[in-house]
Amino acid sequence: MKKLALHWQILIGMALGVAWGVFASSNGLIEFTADWIKPFGTIFINLLKLIAVPLVFVSLITGVASLSDISKLSRIGSKTIGLYLVTTVVAVVLGLTIVNVAEPGKAFSPEKREEFKAQYAATTTQRSTDAAAVEQQGPLQALIDIVPANIFTSMTDNSKMLQVIFFALLFGIALILIPVEKSSPVNAFFDGVNLVILKMVDIIMMAAPYGVFALLAGLVVEFAGDDPSAAVELLLVLGYYCIVVIIGLAIMMLVVYPILVVTIGKTRYIDFFKGIFPAQMLALSTSSSAATLPVTMERCEERLGINREITSFVLPLGATINMDGTSLYQAVAAVFIAQAYGMDLSLMTQVGIVMTATLASIGAAAVPGAGVVMLVIVLQQAGIPIEGIALILAPDRILDMLRTTVNITGDATVAMVVARTEGQLHPPVLEDVGIN
Ligand code: ASP
Repeated sequence: MKKLALHWQILIGMALGVAWGVFASSNGLIEFTADWIKPFGTIFINLLKLIAVPLVFVSLITGVASLSDISKLSRIGSKTIGLYLVTTVVAVVLGLTIVNVAEPGKAFSPEKREEFKAQYAATTTQRSTDAAAVEQQGPLQALIDIVPANIFTSMTDNSKMLQVIFFALLFGIALILIPVEKSSPVNAFFDGVNLVILKMVDIIMMAAPYGVFALLAGLVVEFAGDDPSAAVELLLVLGYYCIVVIIGLAIMMLVVYPILVVTIGKTRYIDFFKGIFPAQMLALSTSSSAATLPVTMERCEERLGINREITSFVLPLGATINMDGTSLYQAVAAVFIAQAYGMDLSLMTQVGIVMTATLASIGAAAVPGAGVVMLVIVLQQAGIPIEGIALILAPDRILDMLRTTVNITGDATVAMVVARTEGQLHPPVLEDVGIN
């Protein structure tokens, strides 16, 4: 018998988790669920947190090191990275704007939000002293906090992820600057480790259907108590949250990218869209920019007429570091959780989210579920309870599919723009696009 694809398994796990939760809360099995099922959800979240530091560390080093021919391509390199950063920041700001206007997290009833808040307060007495300490700090403290005095200390604490990113970037840059005969064994080593870590993510994702089942079952009984009808409220609010993310992703796809493709790329968006469509479908069904990369490259070269010199550099780099959909989603998810917990995020905190979501999306591996792992960083840096991830994990698979589609469209958009400005676009192939 053929094995069911992982995303179906996860969807089934989700559905069964909700069903069990509803069943348990109406049949006096709440305690059983909390004692014997929910812990597996916690273990799954721990696994996600466990892999976060090594994942960021190695995937960033390999990402930066892939720029090794930067001396040749320095102009293209800075153009590409600049565009990647700009589109990512636009995506985060867009996400923040929509989520602040729509306020999906506030759609929970006031009693429910009070409950979340009380739960959170009960688990974290430390936080108020932390907040007091933050108030004592000078304006440049955030900058100081990025630069660690000891990388091993940073690595032991998930909330110090920015420091790990800083170290990895510095390491990657230094790796480019040393002679090739010295750097190539190091590169080969990190490439290998990168594969190992991606495989670890695969293995962890194999537990995802069960983890999601346990999380959802735990979430529903906790939420519903002995009143299963309250679960309906949760589903409605989550639906609202998904719509907010989807609107943001649609704006990227239908407004932001067309502007770039048409004005700088000087190409009709419909032609671009037709050229890239098969890659988008693959992104949708694999939820992985990395898995989609060969098709993205092929379509960009053959259907959009972008020279291989551009695609071979811009697209693999983009698959690793440019994730507009992911960063938009992280911004919405973080603020949604904060809203659900009744936290008011200051403007400064939201500016911080722009920074961490940008960096977290850069650090996220191009594999299914990476965005939600990296969300931990955004939450921790903004002081939003990580426990809130349990709230948004349920619909994550669907959002992952959609944000991955946006991620690879963003990569192709930048490839197109860079190719046009470099005179590396071949019109004859472009004309061909309309046919297929
Ligand atoms: N699955 C996404 C990608 O490969 C990353 C994410 O989880 O957001 O692009």
